[in-house]
Amino acid sequence: MENFWYSLVLFVFGTTIGSFLNVVIYRIPKEESIIFPSSRCTHCHTPLKWRHNIPILSWIFLHGKCAFCHTPISAQYPFVELITGLLFVILYLKLGWVWHLPFVFASFSALFALVMIDFKYYAVPDSVNFFALTMALVQPDFITAAADAAMAALGLYLLGLGVSLIARKEAMGSADVIVAGTMAAILGFPNFFFALFLSAVLAIVPSLIAKETKVPFVPFLALATLIVYLFDRETAQLLDWIMYG
Ligand SMILES: [Zn+2]
Repeated sequence: MENFWYSLVLFVFGTTIGSFLNVVIYRIPKEESIIFPSSRCTHCHTPLKWRHNIPILSWIFLHGKCAFCHTPISAQYPFVELITGLLFVILYLKLGWVWHLPFVFASFSALFALVMIDFKYYAVPDSVNFFALTMALVQPDFITAAADAAMAALGLYLLGLGVSLIARKEAMGSADVIVAGTMAAILGFPNFFFALFLSAVLAIVPSLIAKETKVPFVPFLALATLIVYLFDRETAQLLDWIMYG
């Protein structure tokens, strides 16, 4: 029962962080400040009152419209709040009250913001990317996490360089290299490799459907990272079985 109340509190907390992520997702690609000005309608620019700014609930009570100009508000807002709330609950249920839980929340929140920005703008802003990496490094085994991040980033950088030389076009952006560092810091080896492989598998179907249009890759990397993180023991067993039978 204790778990339930903690989960509920963390869900509500997660939705308020999700509300902040919406600001990040909207303003960072436009290179606007994420602190000033306060939240306002993106259409009529009227500053929102606190009751218009309650995660998920305000959007429902306002029937998805601005309280002032009645312009429809994207369902992305409550969606991001809901997902962030759920994310906090599952991460808490996985880890329990460990001291680095806030940093795990922070790195996955930043990854989620990157996912949404990549979806919307096909861009991966460095500020959010480095924030995710920095937060991922704050954990009990900091030295190993930093070494894993450096190895993964360097490995992917060299791989990209090799492919670029052969294919004569840029194969991997610097953003992917940083994301790889974050993934390795969170997952460690060899689970990092498994997440990389899983992300490629997850991306196959959407890539086939999209055909001509570009498919953002960060969402698949982030989703695979979350899956492998939640099922780390199962992943280790699976890799063990693949390698040693
Ligand atoms: Zn408005």
